[in-house]
Amino acid sequence: MGLIVQKYGGTSVANPERIKKVAEKIIATRNANHRLVVVVSAMSGETDRLISLAKSITSRPKPRELDVLLSTGEQVTIALLSIALESLGCPAHSYTGAQVHIRTDSAHNKARIMDIDAARVHKDLGDGRVVVVAGFQGVDESGNITTLGRGGSDTTAVALASALKADECQIYTDVDGVYTTDPRVVPEARRLDRITYEEMLEMASLGAKVLQIRSVEFASKYNVPLRVLSSFEEGQGTLITTEEEGMEQAQISGIAFNRDEAKLTVLGVPDQPGVASQILSPIADDGIEIDMIVQNVAQDSTTDFTFTVHRNDYDRALEILQDIAKKLGAREVTGDDKIIKISIIGVGMRSHAGIASTMFKTLANEGINIRMISTSEIKISVVVDEKYLELGVRALHDAFGLSQA
Ligand code: ADP
Ligand code: ASP
Ligand code: MG
Repeated sequence: MGLIVQKYGGTSVANPERIKKVAEKIIATRNANHRLVVVVSAMSGETDRLISLAKSITSRPKPRELDVLLSTGEQVTIALLSIALESLGCPAHSYTGAQVHIRTDSAHNKARIMDIDAARVHKDLGDGRVVVVAGFQGVDESGNITTLGRGGSDTTAVALASALKADECQIYTDVDGVYTTDPRVVPEARRLDRITYEEMLEMASLGAKVLQIRSVEFASKYNVPLRVLSSFEEGQGTLITTEEEGMEQAQISGIAFNRDEAKLTVLGVPDQPGVASQILSPIADDGIEIDMIVQNVAQDSTTDFTFTVHRNDYDRALEILQDIAKKLGAREVTGDDKIIKISIIGVGMRSHAGIASTMFKTLANEGINIRMISTSEIKISVVVDEKYLELGVRALHDAFGLSQA
């Protein structure tokens, strides 16, 4: 008899019929003699609806109050699922994050889980109940409700699995596993049986939203066996695991992309020590996250400095940058918020040469101009115009033969 943590995402609990189906799935697992903790998201579209409600009042809602609002989405689903379980004769208790002491820091809207006091969960499991926990939310030291950032229910599930020493953490969603790339963009994408934590971490951080990045960090750090599966079809899904000897080493395991990018350039900055920090510090001080950074080789003792930010932060970053440029005596500030980032990922990159050149040649053959490049040991990212997203991803998927096993 094992202990399993299952998480069901928004589309899996989108309406009462689907919630009843999830209840039946849970009961089937329980009948196979497993103890079960279930984490659920808000019903699909609900978190977006709540955000736009708040934004219809003000464009910058107070983060603390936004968390109070957003946490209600998951509270509805835990109650409905527990009602469904009980109606089918399965004893269940629902809990909010605060009730099972999912303690986080106080960074509203992007809080991190610090610890979980699992005593209450253990007690219920011992009494033969299914425990249903609201994903995406916690409580800080002062008792304030916090949320974990979009997609945060994945992280709740993994953190609970780690705290409870569960045998497996199963993430049920609307695809039957992790694919070589988003199957909505490339229909020929292939489901992977396994992927390493390291590759999944890159995939998630470079835009594949199938798992929240923090959930993968957590699983990797605490060695939580993690599996992504479909709520709607049977199957083995994808196991996220440590790299093993003899594991197939494709050159590239997957392609991720991020539509939320924007880029800013300061032209003609004096080439002297401290310039990078003078440009980027005020941006970071405003809470804006910086992604890629490129500084050109200096000519005539001036240089150009380019970096990318989340598209939502573009206007604000541009405003700050105009100000800095004036102070630095730079020539001009330009920007573009119609760009995207495509990344190829694979641990096999360490042992295969020529991957970058295949990538660049493939894009060139499609007439796609590369605006920025960044590399690390197991990934290469390029920034290109937004209109090339589908074409670029499909061409690269094809060039690296990702549809074939
Ligand atoms: P949930 O609501 O269950 O948390 P998400 O929408 O957050 O589901 O994540 C599932 C979606 O992630 C899929 O519908 C798919 O479009 C997208 N996705 C992006 N990249 C990948 C990938 N490499 N493999 C599988 N799904 C992916
Ligand atoms: N409901 C939250 C969101 O939409 C958390 C989640 O679904 O994981 O982002
Ligand atoms: Mg998700």
